[in-house]
Amino acid sequence: MFRTTTLDDLKERLTGRLVLPGDPGWDAARAAWMLDVDQRPAAVALPATAADVAAVVGAAGGLGLRVAAQTTGHHASALAPLHDTILLKTSGLTGVEIDAAARQARAASGSVWLDVSRPASAAGLAGLAGSSPDVGVAGYTLGGGLGWLARRHGLAANSVTAIELVTAEGRPRRVDHRHDPELFWALRGGGGRFGAVTALEFRLYPVPELYAGWLAWPWERAREVLPAWAEWLPSLPDEVTSIGRLLQVPPIPEIPAAFRGRQLVAVEAAMLCDQDSGAGLLRPLRALRPEIDTFAAVPPLALSHLHMDPDGPVPGGVGQHRLLGDLPAAAIDALLETAGPGTGSPLHSIELRQLGGAVARPAPGAGALATLDAAFMLFGAGIPGGPEDEAAMEARLGVLFERLQAWDTGRRYNNFAKEPDDPRAFFPADTYRRLRRVKAEVDPDDLFLAIHPIPTP
Ligand SMILES: Cc1cc2nc3c(=O)[nH]c(=O)nc-3n(C[C@H](O)[C@H](O)[C@H](O)COP(=O)(O)OP(=O)(O)OC[C@H]3O[C@@H](n4cnc5c(N)ncnc54)[C@H](O)[C@@H]3O)c2cc1C
Repeated sequence: MFRTTTLDDLKERLTGRLVLPGDPGWDAARAAWMLDVDQRPAAVALPATAADVAAVVGAAGGLGLRVAAQTTGHHASALAPLHDTILLKTSGLTGVEIDAAARQARAASGSVWLDVSRPASAAGLAGLAGSSPDVGVAGYTLGGGLGWLARRHGLAANSVTAIELVTAEGRPRRVDHRHDPELFWALRGGGGRFGAVTALEFRLYPVPELYAGWLAWPWERAREVLPAWAEWLPSLPDEVTSIGRLLQVPPIPEIPAAFRGRQLVAVEAAMLCDQDSGAGLLRPLRALRPEIDTFAAVPPLALSHLHMDPDGPVPGGVGQHRLLGDLPAAAIDALLETAGPGTGSPLHSIELRQLGGAVARPAPGAGALATLDAAFMLFGAGIPGGPEDEAAMEARLGVLFERLQAWDTGRRYNNFAKEPDDPRAFFPADTYRRLRRVKAEVDPDDLFLAIHPIPTP
């Protein structure tokens, strides 16, 4: 580790770039995926190598600065102000290796999920990606990682086999079950609080057959469809992960014509089975005669765009979640009375992700986020056209969550907590205490600023 005295010295020493306020390219360097997040750090480091990461981390403390690692900025809205911080953007650390025989992937920490899903799918394999193709593998996985195959294979964090990172003293480390097992445990679901990750290795899963798609109806039929979906769920094997959704789709060209500008109630699902078995499982929902039916036998890569998440930066967004313990008819009624047809709700999407299965069963050797202890994740979102719109969306979410309070577990999920949140709600009390101990040991001076910070004791 070298010592440096000024940011200008550090700039000279990097293979990559260090961009300072006023430098050409400053605004592009500090931009996040959420374009409305106005990040104003002391400097932006764009490392080209893991050695660059070590140089930045090693220098920061001496300069009186903190370090915030970021891959894409999908979650930038949850970061505290960055004025005393070097924003360490790892997006330049690229490269994905797939070992198909060993069913393993290695992803440099600048990788987004599409970088993994494409080559994995070509080999008949899948990683535990979520709904978005361009979320960073690092931030998503460190925070837990709830994806399309979660009910069968669990949270992505618990399929990680090794992590390479630079810790507060500027030292590159490789941690796994045998080396620094406590730090390895903390990183898997405990988030990016313990160091700057430079690469992750994780298991891939064979996907010989996959049947996936959407069923959708005009949203006036939500009172019929959502209860039918909820009744259908207990009959499903863990091979099926599904989402019930209310949508007011914006009329934008990126959206397929059948959905564009429509108000819909929908069921999306990924089924690890052949077409005949999938069609058999879907029978009760197809009996409701959906207007749109996109289910088909698809390769795992198709899951990257199944949810129709944007695959590039967005101007901004409102989004909040709750973890629900149950979804009885009264909860569906409350949801529809607040945000369904005829309510004037400004929200573009309200989704209920079914949890359970492997998401509820701690795997042997699991990390800090072993499970999500809830039956459903409710997420409401919208892309506001301006401040008034934004306030209306936030207000509607407030009313919705109030109406659903009886079913709220009180727990929260790091990855869906868009604004700074109290991390005590993410973990059981003993897990939280253990995370604080690891933080105190590896980063006693709190060099690393992460979303939803865990204080050192
Ligand atoms: C459109 C959309 C869809 C999503 N879908 C899902 C989903 O299906 N399932 C799910 O679980 N989540 C989902 N998320 C949430 C997403 O997983 C989190 O926002 C996650 O933090 C994004 O990771 P990132 O690296 O892209 O974001 P960033 O904003 O770059 O990083 C978020 C945080 O992760 C940590 N981090 C990132 N890179 C590093 C690094 N190299 N070293 C150390 N720490 C690092 C830091 O604490 C950072 O502040 C979605 C988010 C969006 C916007």
